[in-house]
Amino acid sequence: MVQEKGTISINTENIFPIIKKFLYSDHEIFLRELVSNAVDATQKIKRLSSLGQFSGELGNLNIQIAIDEKAGTLTVSDSGIGMTAEEIKKYINQVAFSGATEFMEKFKEAKDANEIIGRFGLGFYSAFMVANKVEIETLSYQEGAEPAKWSCDGSTEFEITEGSRTERGTTVILYLNEESKEFLEQHRIQSILDKYARFLPIPVQFGTKTESVPDGEDKDGKPKYKSVEVDNIINNTNPIWTKAPSELKDEDYLNFYRELYPFQEEPLFWIHLNVDYPFNLTGVLYFPKLKNDFEVHKNKIQLYSRQVFITDEVKDIVPEFLLLLHGVIDSPDIPLNVSRSFLQADSNVKKINSYISRKVADKLQELFNKDRKAYEAKWEDIGIFVKYGAMSDEKFYEKAKDFLLLTNTAKEYYTLEEYNAKVKDFQTDKNGTLVYLYSIDPEHQHTYVQAAQKKGYDVLLMNSPIDPHFIQHIEMKLEKTTMKRVDADVPEKLIEKDDAAKHTLTEDESKKLKEIFDKAIANPTMKVELESLPAETLPVTLTEEEWMRRMKDMSKLGGGGMNIYGNMPDNFKVAVNANHPLVQKILQAEESQQTILAKQAFDLALLAKGMLKGADLTAFVERSVGVL
Ligand code: ADP
Repeated sequence: MVQEKGTISINTENIFPIIKKFLYSDHEIFLRELVSNAVDATQKIKRLSSLGQFSGELGNLNIQIAIDEKAGTLTVSDSGIGMTAEEIKKYINQVAFSGATEFMEKFKEAKDANEIIGRFGLGFYSAFMVANKVEIETLSYQEGAEPAKWSCDGSTEFEITEGSRTERGTTVILYLNEESKEFLEQHRIQSILDKYARFLPIPVQFGTKTESVPDGEDKDGKPKYKSVEVDNIINNTNPIWTKAPSELKDEDYLNFYRELYPFQEEPLFWIHLNVDYPFNLTGVLYFPKLKNDFEVHKNKIQLYSRQVFITDEVKDIVPEFLLLLHGVIDSPDIPLNVSRSFLQADSNVKKINSYISRKVADKLQELFNKDRKAYEAKWEDIGIFVKYGAMSDEKFYEKAKDFLLLTNTAKEYYTLEEYNAKVKDFQTDKNGTLVYLYSIDPEHQHTYVQAAQKKGYDVLLMNSPIDPHFIQHIEMKLEKTTMKRVDADVPEKLIEKDDAAKHTLTEDESKKLKEIFDKAIANPTMKVELESLPAETLPVTLTEEEWMRRMKDMSKLGGGGMNIYGNMPDNFKVAVNANHPLVQKILQAEESQQTILAKQAFDLALLAKGMLKGADLTAFVERSVGVL
């Protein structure tokens, strides 16, 4: 017996074709919407019960999801508050539109399903993305309520009839359309639930599974087991981020990390986020051990809203430099159906962003203060975050400058302030500029590092992929401080002091020597210069001026069409030590011998710079044998 027929009050002719057409992506979110509604209804009855406004039995509150391949249906069933026929009319039929025209205007610009669903409260109607017909069987918790059934075939016509539900709650039955038969597959549904429902606060049951349970003892007294079919509950209803930090031990955090990322190495440490003003946010963020391949670490933070999974693209919520973190953020202030454009504009999101950044800084400061040695041991992994953060977020830098560490080639760690104090007396040049020396690879640049150290200088280690950028940044930040790579000049000139000595060669000798080397090297990018260096330093040193080299490195990094520097040429200085005994030997040698000696000395310089390769290397080896 049909009790009532009517028209869903949307003043548009037919909304469902629109929904179907424009919500083509992400069809799977219909399940998230229906399950979230079931969770809401269940939480409402729990709340009413705890407030004493419902005195009946709560009973089993599990949400059930079932598929029936034969009937072609998918069912979501809850034991929540249910609805009366009146409530169906109110909540389901009168879709809350301020006006059909507004909707028609808006959906034209909408880029994804989330935007439409979220803006217009169409959660339930997303079912029509995948179903020809939807039925609701429901029984309200209210005393004396009659069961009601709502049925709609995707046109604006609906029917409300007497329902058949005998227990409190709601069942939504979807008759899946031809294109959506995939949602009749067990593993498809399982994977959608794993994604969206993994931490929902109400148990969600989908099918059964076999479990082995104790079954007394056998005749030898050994425990026996038997297989039983049990409800397959797919979610953890009490994830740790919903608990107070004081209730949790380290092991709890580690276990949760394993639950989220089963095959990852253990994290270094974590931060429990917990704030309720001016916005609501809970969560746990983990610092992973970084591998060089950063891509594998990205998109590991999951965003939830009241334990409903929303997305793992948190670009707009988490400061960029923290995107390598792992973990979970949950904020009811972020609506279920978020779109990118919404996130970018939302002021709460901006606040969340700076809150997370601040929390991370506080945590790092705390670790640094509490146990410096342990902090230093982790520096290799966290240094990247801290440096990146310092570069990309001014407020973060202000905090980070106290726990940002510089490492030298002796593997000692210094804060910026400590390092300044360490080297300022010795490494200030004649203009009062403090020069920090660094190496990107002390093995490879050994000769240069040693030469600098011999002069009493300290050499920093700058070997992480972020360091070329960090170097530029720190120069801007630190007063009258500049950074120079150890091979930027001969050791005497790395840090220019007043006592620059002159060499004693005559003008003729100098000219001659230059000619000999130019001829022997025969490479226009190698500029021969005579230097007055202590006799015991190398006869020839190859250096590359800091700024030119940086530009060259940048142009390599830039690549492609974005390369504003063009292809920077090599720009080496061949510093010939005019005070070295070899120089006199060369000047006095026969002409053929001069070239060989000059070449040999130059090749040694190439060798020290790690640039002697291929045919040149073979020629050098052969020539060396000859000299021997
Ligand atoms: P929203 O959930 O954003 O309010 P929906 O279209 O998903 O929008 O649902 C509309 C309303 O229908 C809900 O607010 C709720 O009152 C009612 N409703 C939907 N599903 C259920 C359910 N399983 N049990 C009880 N009420 C429900």
